[in-house]
Amino acid sequence: MKNTGAEKNARERMRPGIITAGGFFGSDDRTIADIVQADEEEFRRLDLDFEKVAARLAEYRETGSRGLGEPVTVGRKLVCTGDARGLLPCPFGDGAFHKNSMEVSDTETGERLVLSDLSIHLLGIHHFLQGRGCEFRLDPEVLSRMLA
Ligand SMILES: [Zn+2]
Repeated sequence: MKNTGAEKNARERMRPGIITAGGFFGSDDRTIADIVQADEEEFRRLDLDFEKVAARLAEYRETGSRGLGEPVTVGRKLVCTGDARGLLPCPFGDGAFHKNSMEVSDTETGERLVLSDLSIHLLGIHHFLQGRGCEFRLDPEVLSRMLA
């Protein structure tokens, strides 16, 4: 993605308090393009595919939602889905997604991922995993271990 007006608008919408209380950057002060590029390199290095990872996360969401608020066990993963109502718009302006958050934790290592439908969309479509230090950041190394 080039550093265009569209990115500037997206970055504006990703600030804390616009779409989500915490924003999408955490303590990361890189541009969207730089974050995407670095994470694309990490995905290549770890032999991960954005579409496949998004599909796996969507599977967890489907399975988790069958728990109706109760945790669901998938292998050694524990999936908890929240039931927040409402929609979050994609900061890139191409849709709106259920606010529902989901936590996937590895019962052996204690490692966890916190994500929403919007995070899965940002990963699959925009290759944007959010900034370092952001609660919803999907770190490639963690994804690689959690989806192995
Ligand atoms: Zn989008």
